[in-house]
Amino acid sequence: MKHKAIFIDRDGTINVDVHYLDDPDKFEMYPGVGEGVKKLKDKGFKIIVITNQSGIARGYFIEKQLWNIHEIMKKEFQEFDVVLDGIYYCPHHPNDKCDCRKPNTGLFEKAIKEHDIDVKKSYMLGDKTLDVGAGKKIGARTVLVPEPHIRDELLSNKNEWEYGPDYIADDFMDAVEWILVDF
Ligand SMILES: [Mg+2]
Ligand SMILES: [Zn+2]
Repeated sequence: MKHKAIFIDRDGTINVDVHYLDDPDKFEMYPGVGEGVKKLKDKGFKIIVITNQSGIARGYFIEKQLWNIHEIMKKEFQEFDVVLDGIYYCPHHPNDKCDCRKPNTGLFEKAIKEHDIDVKKSYMLGDKTLDVGAGKKIGARTVLVPEPHIRDELLSNKNEWEYGPDYIADDFMDAVEWILVDF
């Protein structure tokens, strides 16, 4: 049987988006993320992080730094008894026109294959419209969880969005509760 999955964006969704996070010490998880992901795991969802990390192509940090940040992230999740099933990142610059930078779907396709995922039973959770776009393109349900300080600005452009999310959440736990009713 194929697995259902939650694809989760990293910056701005799991942790506060400090723009080009380069230091594990600056990794700050949003409230409710650990508890929320634990609830999803307990329902049998695979948890897959999908993140754009153009800071690598831009020369702001090297992959080793990214791996160190992901070690810290994994450790923080472990405190909630959560083991992440996969972390996929795009290291490219937008100008590289790669197929893996969201809203492109290369990383999703890789994850779907490697984890035998049924995308129709899966969700994409992210803070940006590009997360919604990528999720829609692969055929997942999508939840937008805007960061609090940019929420109003983001939602004011709603009419121009190419893809509308299935749900706009107040915060991470609200997104989780919605998924738990929806799936
Ligand atoms: Mg983000
Ligand atoms: Zn890429």
